[in-house]
Amino acid sequence: MIVAERKPLSEIIAKVEGYNRLLIVGCNTCVAVCQAGGEKEVAMLAAALRLRFRDRQPAMEIIERSVERQCEEEFNQVLAEDIAHAEAVLSMACGVGVQTLVEQFPDAIVLPAVNTKFMGRPEERGVWSERCIGCGNCVLDKFGGICPITRCAKSLLNGPCGGSENGRCEVDPENLECAWQLIYDRLARLGQLDRLLEIEPPKDWSTARYGGPRKIVRKDMVL
Ligand code: SF4
Ligand code: SF4
Repeated sequence: MIVAERKPLSEIIAKVEGYNRLLIVGCNTCVAVCQAGGEKEVAMLAAALRLRFRDRQPAMEIIERSVERQCEEEFNQVLAEDIAHAEAVLSMACGVGVQTLVEQFPDAIVLPAVNTKFMGRPEERGVWSERCIGCGNCVLDKFGGICPITRCAKSLLNGPCGGSENGRCEVDPENLECAWQLIYDRLARLGQLDRLLEIEPPKDWSTARYGGPRKIVRKDMVL
């Protein structure tokens, strides 16, 4: 899932204080699971903003809405009237949701309320961690299902750097396991340590973000 974090309240207040009619729109998929921008978070943010602006004249009108997936236009159709009424839309979806609203409602001012962080998974209550950077050519099979591109701080493909110590990554030993320790342990468990003898060639990064914005066109589906 896409993991996001709500922006600090002070930053959001600074973005919206110039508007009198504000529409807050959440997304009930990824950002709801990571408790950054679902229906509940919309209600909490709206309450905080109402409190902050309670004495303001003219009063700030705040409308709360949430859609199932803000990154898909069909789910946003129901917002058309509210968006036309609002002076600004505060989106609590990831950056994809925000940009979908911008493309779908080109006259609307759409402001982001969350910081989109990464593709990851919940590890335990209140903890999410990154698992994939979307490199465009998955090699998980070669590394026991642990992604060195994402989980090694240096994206090393042929073993650890000299900073791996006691299974921790030198970049942040307190919080980061060394991905290469994880890969080694996993391959040992699977009886596949001989895989580490294969030299991994330099990665072709053109399939990743570095080749420019990506698009998938399924010719069998295009009308
Ligand atoms: S190899 Fe690429 S696609 Fe596969 S998990 Fe890692 S970053 Fe994601
Ligand atoms: S310590 Fe391990 S995870 Fe950290 S950069 Fe070195 S090899 Fe990668």
